[in-house]
Amino acid sequence: MAQSVERLQQRVEELERELAQERSRRAVGGGDGGGGRVRIEKMSPEVVDSNPYSRLMALKRMGIVSDYEKIRTFAVAIVGVGGVGSVTAEMLTRCGIGKLLLFDYDKVELANMNRLFFQPHQAGLSKVQAAEYTLRNINPDVLFEVHNYNITTVENFQHFMDRISNGGLEEGKPIDLVLSCVDNFEARMAINTACNELGQTWMESGVSENAVSGHIQLIIPGESACFACAPPLVVAANIDEKTLKREGVCAASLPTTMGVVAGILVQNVLKFLLNFGTVSFYLGYNAMQDFFPTMSMKPNPQCDDRNCRKQQEEYKKKVAALPKQEAVQEEEEIIHEDNEWARRFCS
Ligand SMILES: [Zn+2]
Repeated sequence: MAQSVERLQQRVEELERELAQERSRRAVGGGDGGGGRVRIEKMSPEVVDSNPYSRLMALKRMGIVSDYEKIRTFAVAIVGVGGVGSVTAEMLTRCGIGKLLLFDYDKVELANMNRLFFQPHQAGLSKVQAAEYTLRNINPDVLFEVHNYNITTVENFQHFMDRISNGGLEEGKPIDLVLSCVDNFEARMAINTACNELGQTWMESGVSENAVSGHIQLIIPGESACFACAPPLVVAANIDEKTLKREGVCAASLPTTMGVVAGILVQNVLKFLLNFGTVSFYLGYNAMQDFFPTMSMKPNPQCDDRNCRKQQEEYKKKVAALPKQEAVQEEEEIIHEDNEWARRFCS
């Protein structure tokens, strides 16, 4: 009995995959299996209309990024492919990231259509599967690995940890960054636990239930506060968040707020990976006042997570071992902006 249920589940998954392929073929209007472009071996700075990377490579010429091609060497995991995660995945795909690993257990619903990215014809498909087809068509140079499961179950959590450690661009190597785009504390705590144990840098993002504020946060285990160092009340008081959900009352969401949060998240991912500008440890967004608060938080030496405390000890040793002149923070150079009117504006 259990075996036949499993077989049926496998068959349903196969059929869903075939159906998604067929739908995405029809959606791009061709019967040729995609209608997208062919893969490109090497990013070129050549300024021609047919080069999908010319505007990105121009960041080098403008003196913003010294080595844009390096983007192809990075693997980034996105946990939660909803209103923020899907847009994040699209931005990184268009920027030519090396590999994306997507984790989500949910399906696309018509109730998601107030947000960006997913389309009505994808309703019923798993979010990771629908996202993979769309993203592959946008940029076939990116490698995709998708997992349609909930990372908080014991078995899946182990697999999730294994993919952080081994799912890099080259199999067996760790990934470069984990992005949390989930909508609940349980999943955030699972990501926090995994990243503290592995010493994995990650970025957290969130949008409020009333849709008018959001934030991003960079967490470097041992160096900056982790999610358990300063937990929100629901975690500190050990409240089961399911009991907080009111029957028939659903969270509000806006494509604008989600888009802004995804934008500031990916902006900081690019700065972090390609080493330009200043990466924010915490950047908030209050839509009502158009206020963007920033701050940074030191880790809590009494954090509940023992791996966080262990990482803090290791970080202290690392800082103590640095030669003195390097340990002193260099004062930020003041760069005078050039004349605003002299710049060329382009769309
Ligand atoms: Zn901590």
